[in-house]
Formats: sequence, structure tokens, C-alpha cells
Amino acid sequence: MFRATVLTLYPEMFPGALGLSLAGKALERGDWALEAVQIRDFASDRHRTIDDTPAGGGAGMVMRPDILAKAIDAVAPSPDARPKLLMSPRGRPLTQRRVRALAAGPGAMILCGRFEGVDQRVIEARGLEEVSIGDYILSGGEPAALVLLDAVVRLLPGVMGNAASGTEESFENGLLEHPHYTRPQVFEGRPIPQVLTSGNHAKIAAWRRGEAERLTRERRPDLLAGPQPVTK
Ligand code: SAH
Repeated sequence: MFRATVLTLYPEMFPGALGLSLAGKALERGDWALEAVQIRDFASDRHRTIDDTPAGGGAGMVMRPDILAKAIDAVAPSPDARPKLLMSPRGRPLTQRRVRALAAGPGAMILCGRFEGVDQRVIEARGLEEVSIGDYILSGGEPAALVLLDAVVRLLPGVMGNAASGTEESFENGLLEHPHYTRPQVFEGRPIPQVLTSGNHAKIAAWRRGEAERLTRERRPDLLAGPQPVTK
């Protein structure tokens, strides 16, 4: 079973959106497990301090490596086969390929940063894999962890109603997906493209492929440059 352990200063943010809909039902069924652990529980002073001022000066606070290491060792004592992830804007951008690999594995330990981030030494000492969800800055790693887990959980066996829809989506074949249409037949004067109502499945497949290629060329030519670099 896929087991997620999240280290956070805000355990109340979990399961959050993952407690609803398909992910929430799967969580209730026990198709995956989620544990959110308060990092402050591993602090050693009365005020449960987990951060301190940055060495070298500057604004903000940095999360302490000793407390984070204690927390990591407590929730994922070695040997723990699960990858240890750190949500971080400096990380490798998350891809569907990495999401698939995570979904095929035993789970993940996910550390959510806050403030300016975490002391570099704990990243190195615990072999944390830094993962970014995009080139923008969040106020904390929690929404990023929810995004990552949402993407992973929908791929777990039994979670999605229609298994096929998990394999025909944007990125799965290196292309953005073709546009979708449904009833009504005419919406504000716009008809459904005729080919889709023709009943000719070969033509429909060709049209969808063509649209996918056109959209990808227009919006994401980088995807056509070839397969994404393989990540572990
Ligand atoms: N000072 C840092 C930003 C810290 S933001 C910098 O300039 O790189 C605080 C925390 O939010 C980070 O430690 C990280 O856990 C999380 N975070 C922010 N943006 C993120 C992103 N794009 N992807 C994943 N995590 C992110």
C-alpha cells in the first residue's frame, strides 16, 4: 500500500483536499495511507523552536537541521524504502514520469519547508530529493505536497473509476491532450466538430491526434523536443 508521511508545521492542512472525492474515498477504503506529523514535536526547548536566523545574515528564518533530522529519523527510520522528498522551488520540476514512478513505489516521506527554507546540511545528510511544482514561490511546502500526492494517488490501483482515462491524458504520450466536447450539439452557435459525431473511429482518432499535435506545437513546443530526461 502507498504510504505517505508528511512532515509539516501545519498538520491540519492534511488530508485537506485529499480527504474528498476519489482520493478521499480511496483514503477511507485504505487504498493508501496518509500521516501528517508536526515537526515541532521534535523540538527540544520549551517554546518548541524549529527555526533560527540565517548564517551570514539576511531576512527570514531557516529550519534547523538537527530538529528536522530527528523528525525524519522518527517517521522514516532506516531501512525505509520510501523516497525522502523535500518540496522546494530549487528542486527538479515534477513530471508525470516521476509521478508514475512514485505511484509504483511504497510511498513517500515528504518534508514541507516554511520560512526561507531548510538548512542545506540536512538535505545532504538525509539524501532528500528536492521536488518543485513550478517556477513560482509558495509560502510553504504543504500545498506543493498536496499537489504531488493528488497526482500520485489518482494513479494508484483502484482509485480511478475508469482506468483507461489514466493513460490517455496530457503528457502521457509526450503531447497535450486534444479538446473535449459533449452535449448540447450546438452551444451559443458553436457546433461540435463534425468528425466527432461521424461515428468513424479511425477518423476521430486521427483528428484527436492532429489536434493534440497542433496544441502541443502552439503551447508547449518544448514537449516535442523529445522525451523528458529520465529521473530516478
Ligand atoms: N527562499 C526560498 C523560498 C522559500 S518558500 C527560495 O527563494 O528558494 C518556503 C517553502 O515553500 C519552501 O521551503 C518549500 O518547501 C515551499 N515551496 C515554495 N515554492 C515551492 C515550489 N514552487 N515547489 C515546491 N515547494 C515550494
